[in-house]
Amino acid sequence: MARKEFKAESKRLLEMMINSIYSQKEIFIRELISNASDAIDKMYYKALTDDSISFEQESYYIKVSTDKENRLLTISDTGIGMTKEEMESNLGTIAKSGSLAFKKETEIKDGHDIIGQFGVGFYSSFMVADNVTVISRASGTDEAYKWESDGTDGYTIIPFEKDSVGTEIIIKIQENTEDENFDEYLDESRLKTIIKKYSDFIRYPIKMDVTVQKPKEDNEEELEDSEEEQTVNSMVPIWRKNKSELTTEDYENFYSEKHYGFDKPLKHIHIRVDGTIRYQSILFIPESMPYDYYSKEFEKGLELYSNGVLIMEKSADLLPDYFGFVKGMVDSEDLSLNISREMLQHDRQLKMIAKNIKTKIKSQLESLLKEDREKYEKFYDSFGRQLKYGVYSDFGANKDTLQDLLMFFSSTEKKQVTLAEYVARMPEDQKYIYYASGDSNERIEKMPQTEMVAEKGFEILYFTEDVDEFAIKMIMSYKEKEFKSVSSGDLGIDTEEDKKDAEKDATENKELFDHMKSILSGRVKDVRVSKRLKSHPVCLSADGEVTIEMEKVLQAMPD
Ligand code: ADP
Ligand code: MG
Repeated sequence: MARKEFKAESKRLLEMMINSIYSQKEIFIRELISNASDAIDKMYYKALTDDSISFEQESYYIKVSTDKENRLLTISDTGIGMTKEEMESNLGTIAKSGSLAFKKETEIKDGHDIIGQFGVGFYSSFMVADNVTVISRASGTDEAYKWESDGTDGYTIIPFEKDSVGTEIIIKIQENTEDENFDEYLDESRLKTIIKKYSDFIRYPIKMDVTVQKPKEDNEEELEDSEEEQTVNSMVPIWRKNKSELTTEDYENFYSEKHYGFDKPLKHIHIRVDGTIRYQSILFIPESMPYDYYSKEFEKGLELYSNGVLIMEKSADLLPDYFGFVKGMVDSEDLSLNISREMLQHDRQLKMIAKNIKTKIKSQLESLLKEDREKYEKFYDSFGRQLKYGVYSDFGANKDTLQDLLMFFSSTEKKQVTLAEYVARMPEDQKYIYYASGDSNERIEKMPQTEMVAEKGFEILYFTEDVDEFAIKMIMSYKEKEFKSVSSGDLGIDTEEDKKDAEKDATENKELFDHMKSILSGRVKDVRVSKRLKSHPVCLSADGEVTIEMEKVLQAMPD
């Protein structure tokens, strides 16, 4: 039987594929610029092994230009170019990546800078194009060719003229439709924004002719529009620079340029890891809480770059919830991307980076606590609550990471103290870490329950937030000292003599207590004699796991 080929409506297939891979149309610019950068990289690698080519940095660049009248957007490069055969195989076959093949073939093991690997990026231009023209002249030849396609019925290739080696991609931009604006891809400032967003750290200059206002030559008082070639991208990302070259101001500028926040960052963390996984990262601890921090709108996450190209604006997987306030970016050449780039494969590398970052944030917060108490307190006022939630969530799985970062108000120090500081101050006869819960420090101070412990000279931690006690219940003990609520039945401070006295009182007044218990039946578990009260006649206390304050919180929660 004769074997038949599948037929496919190629335009529809292309549309379906591209639209399902790319979430935003503007991404085609990133893809074409990445291809141009790859082409220049290939030239660079070729120069390394071929003495007849010299690689002079200045002659390698990417140029983006527009012709509004004819609706043309052109992206050209001075890279390695394509032969006729290469045009046929690389542009004529969907999912064929010449760059991947190059990386495999080339002797240079360092080829990890090259971005392309899936062989679909080029076709993303059809998301905005009526047709696409590629004019290219390959390095080492003097023939040029023109490839053209409207994405429907294949393509044509004809010989063409081109003065210099390199590639020119000319896109005829679609007319606006009722619900889509394509004009923006012909708009200078919009293009600039898109390039900055995705391709700011491409290593080669991306040039554009920009309209600027200049004083007129014959009349300095008046301004006139004039064209000026500008390099739009910053090229060397700040995270690739040496820490010693950078000032705090540089980091602060980066923070505001990136719109990480309106405040000034409290602290920056610059990480460069060159181990089994390679990545660079700049992280910021903001000073103040974003206005939407506790709302549903708030999205945690770090910017994720693969080798200088933005892949994801908010990669949530890189940050645990309790460090959700951290801002910044990660760049790694080791990520396994999938075809859409926006959908990262949930891979081992990403998990390793996330773990690494978590440890760094923790240790940086600890050193802030040690070295700049005032700053740490500022941080803690904004985000301390988040840390406590972190201790409490996931069944306490993160308590070891977080417990040293917690602070509570101390009855004796009259300021926030850490658990380590508390334990270091404990006198020998003090068995427990005492705490008291209430609405405010003032109220807690007036509670009868605190009196006895305070009388003993023991320090008490004041818990004024709902989450405090829940978090502490997760920690259970710190440096082998258990936590104890001042409202609990046995405070562990009675001497043998106190206990005997209490027993005696209890037997002598058994009838009275039994009577009280039956009156309060169902509302209290027991009525007992206490030695703990000094100036108050009675107090309520809680035995067991749930204290009175926790009960209040639990009751206030919706079912
Ligand atoms: P990828 O970049 O993942 O390989 P693309 O669809 O973006 O896939 O590009 C397909 C191939 O076309 C590239 O691998 C490269 O060989 C070739 N190509 C595309 N653009 C250019 C260019 N500007 N210069 C030289 N070759 C190019
Ligand atoms: Mg590509």
